[in-house]
Amino acid sequence: MMQTFHWYTPNDGGFWNGWGARATELEQKGFTALWLPPAYKGMGGTWDVGYGVYDLFDCGEFDQKGTVRTKYGTKEEYLGCIRAARDAGLQVYADVVLNHRMGADGKQWVDDVVAVDPRDRNRTLGNRHGRELWTRFSFPGRGDTYSGMQWEWWHFDATREHGTIYKLKDKRFETHVDEENANYDFLMGCDLDFDHEQVRGEAHYWGKWYLDSFGMDGFRIDAVKHIRSLFFRHWLDDMRNHTQKNLFAVGEYWSSDIGRLRRYIDQTEGRMHLFDVPLHYNFHRASKAGAGYDMGSLLSGTLVRENPLLAVTLVENHDTQPLQSLESLVESWFKPLAYAIVLLRDEGYPCVFAADYDGAHYEDKGYEIRLDSHRWLIDLFLDARRKYTFGQRRDYLDHRHIIGWTFQGDDNHGSMAVVMTNAGDDTKWMETGKPYTAYRDITRHIDESIRTDEWGWAPFSTRGGKVSVWVEE
Ligand code: CA
Repeated sequence: MMQTFHWYTPNDGGFWNGWGARATELEQKGFTALWLPPAYKGMGGTWDVGYGVYDLFDCGEFDQKGTVRTKYGTKEEYLGCIRAARDAGLQVYADVVLNHRMGADGKQWVDDVVAVDPRDRNRTLGNRHGRELWTRFSFPGRGDTYSGMQWEWWHFDATREHGTIYKLKDKRFETHVDEENANYDFLMGCDLDFDHEQVRGEAHYWGKWYLDSFGMDGFRIDAVKHIRSLFFRHWLDDMRNHTQKNLFAVGEYWSSDIGRLRRYIDQTEGRMHLFDVPLHYNFHRASKAGAGYDMGSLLSGTLVRENPLLAVTLVENHDTQPLQSLESLVESWFKPLAYAIVLLRDEGYPCVFAADYDGAHYEDKGYEIRLDSHRWLIDLFLDARRKYTFGQRRDYLDHRHIIGWTFQGDDNHGSMAVVMTNAGDDTKWMETGKPYTAYRDITRHIDESIRTDEWGWAPFSTRGGKVSVWVEE
């Protein structure tokens, strides 16, 4: 799949039209799905990436937060983008932000609130007291179109104002959430209380309205570690029953601890894929350490190794890119190696980041950032993925610097050998299973072709810090 946006995607309103126009070309390149950004109105109007969600029912249709369109365009343009993508044969995944609401329309008096310790959410600070808080959402620009629900303080567990987290009257943080900060139910904004029947009901109603309105093929679900995991068992079952489709779902459980990902998969009983966060951090560390990193451990502790059927593999995203909240850049020299791991193996569901495909240039916080385009290699890998990732795979992930793997191919597909190093020019003996067969390096790092011996082995080479992809001639 393609993650179509990054944090600094231009807010000119041309996004939906632009990606709709690219759909056919992307399908021909080998993409099969688009992950589109949150399409509804955020508190920041046309500046909001979408995660500061204000109104889930306003996909660029109503004059709210100073604008009709969102950062990405209007509702009609959103529909046009989805139609173009699906006509081109691509699946479309919606970004679903259910954890919090931001940009309330009004204040309310809550007669019993208490501050909590940000690092230990079970510990209260100071006395219970009454306080006026921004917790009322009445959506004056939309009124009761699509939904008559107005949000009041009792639909929320907690909110943050002026840096203090206030737990609201009679509320308890949800169980079955991440244990960071003792209980990580609260992330930001007005935090939805999923113990409240109206809150759950509206989330189910909205999901079905969204599917009926836009016809998505699946979801990328935001911030799942801050929402009771058991909720999604019911919600995903309801959505899949409603559409009678096996809707795809991938959750953003941002943790590099494979144990927590394993537990979440257990709790949701395999209904949801997860992003392979440990893999991203392995790539990040490898890219920073250069030849000091043990390439043989690149897949250690990753979801793709433990549970390949539920792993969505990634290299970078809108939170890890420079100047963002989870900044952990994978350095440019390593990205071809990382994308080879993601795209040229038969495990995991790969996600390509738009800023790695198109490049990016932006300024923020006094810095100017340039991210390189790796499109030429990614396109090569996508093509090789369709032609050569078949038959028996032989892994050689067994060296501090140079690692590789081969696919033997089958009746309809040729064989391939992938080799990469984080040190100098090097060569690795690997078996493809095909004796006396000639191979060429499609990355063009090495010009001369090579032949396997009578047992199907050959010394496959690559350049320092590079990946070479040898395919059958
Ligand atoms: Ca929450």
